[in-house]
Amino acid sequence: MYENFQEHLKATLDDIRESGLYKTERIIVSPQGAEIVLDTGQKVLNFCANNYLGLSNNRLLVEAARSALESHGYGMSSVRFICGTTDLHKRLENMIAGFFGTEDTILYAACFDANGGVFEPLLTDRDAIISDALNHASIIDGVRLCKAQRFRYENADMDDLEKQLKLARDLRFRLIVTDGVFSMDGNVAPLDRIFELAERYDAMIMVDESHSAGVVGNTGRGVTELFNLRGKIEIITGTLGKAFGGAIGGFTTGRKEIIELLRQRSRPYLFSNSIPPLVAAAGIKMIEMMTGTNELQDRLHNNSRHFISRITGLGFDIKPTMSAICAVMLYDAKLSQDFAALLLEEGIYVTGFSYPVVPKGQARIRVQLSAAHETEHIEKAIAAFEKTGRKLGVIK
Ligand SMILES: *Cc1c(COP(=O)(O)O)cnc(C)c1O
Repeated sequence: MYENFQEHLKATLDDIRESGLYKTERIIVSPQGAEIVLDTGQKVLNFCANNYLGLSNNRLLVEAARSALESHGYGMSSVRFICGTTDLHKRLENMIAGFFGTEDTILYAACFDANGGVFEPLLTDRDAIISDALNHASIIDGVRLCKAQRFRYENADMDDLEKQLKLARDLRFRLIVTDGVFSMDGNVAPLDRIFELAERYDAMIMVDESHSAGVVGNTGRGVTELFNLRGKIEIITGTLGKAFGGAIGGFTTGRKEIIELLRQRSRPYLFSNSIPPLVAAAGIKMIEMMTGTNELQDRLHNNSRHFISRITGLGFDIKPTMSAICAVMLYDAKLSQDFAALLLEEGIYVTGFSYPVVPKGQARIRVQLSAAHETEHIEKAIAAFEKTGRKLGVIK
């Protein structure tokens, strides 16, 4: 039996390779950080991690995790409702709610699970989900698991959102769903205008703050801070795997009845293991740090501004961004791959993205800034972009 299937798999893999979509993995032998060591021995500056606040190898978080490893052991061997809840899980849930100005929080093993488990328990075929076309894959999958009727609007297009809200007018409940920051361009969802439309058409809102929590807003509270909407959004989802320490874990935070029902009915919560106590302990330390001082958020904002002003000054074309993501547009798929390879030779690690990850003719290099970057790291990246840009004829 397997022989036929094996042939089929090999053909599929060859197709992926031939269309240039085969993904390989680079092996890192150091902790994640601004400067990393690859298994080739090369030391490079990392500009493609979601390590926005530089917490992946932060001393205080490592210490908090180590200490919880001693006090609470390694694993929980249980889902939350049987015997998988510690004081650390509850404290972290309360602190996440405090951070976002919401009423309660439920933790998941990942934000992929939070999004996978949020729609189906709350909505039925009498309801509508109205989703931004560029929402994350986990939102798309979560929506598929739910019987609610589906409506889609073009990315951040408020005229189209209004059109969809009109189409969904006769359904019982309407939920508008959007990423806070869209990962390929770094643009922010226009939450102020989404909120107005939600009021006008009697809809609720869900925002996924995975790329915006810790990043967007003066104190890093995300897009609800940026648009002065703290406490006014029904559902927020997010990850502990990006700015918030980078380990593992996700959450849904919002209205308390919503969270209460998710604890009863959300399948990835009911049927999947608890996050390890050491991750919860590091999460608690992370929120304490971000509440105690704005140093990391300020550093990240300064670094993003610095990079953007230098890269545009050199004549590169970038997508409008309000996050720590900067898409340097090269438009051509092969050019973006060659550009990234030459940057790596200069010790700068970034990723080139082309179709189908981004639209045809929109190939780019995505740069992600971090509070862990020193000014000299950014200057080194800028120098490498300048040298490579001239060599490949992208800038004069
Ligand atoms: C990264 C990301 C996720 C997935 O988060 P994990 O915790 O890694 O599963 C979900 N939504 C968005 C918008 C993301 O960017």
